[in-house]
Amino acid sequence: MGAVPKKQPSDARKNRRYSSHVRKQIKAQLTNLVVCSNCGSRTLPHRVCTVCGQYKGATIVAPKTRVKRVSSN
Ligand SMILES: [Zn+2]
Repeated sequence: MGAVPKKQPSDARKNRRYSSHVRKQIKAQLTNLVVCSNCGSRTLPHRVCTVCGQYKGATIVAPKTRVKRVSSN
């Protein structure tokens, strides 16, 4: 048997350790943006565009359409 940890790391210790990973992920997502070939907005690489819903020239998901609410006053 090799090296075995004596105690389980606490939740706080684990969360502290992985907090840097989350920060790195968010930072990478914010910096590595590509321009969508269809609408020209900045989206994540190798992902469906969140604005127009297209990926590699094909519509994958229907784009979100904002429904105008008619006020009744
Ligand atoms: Zn797009």
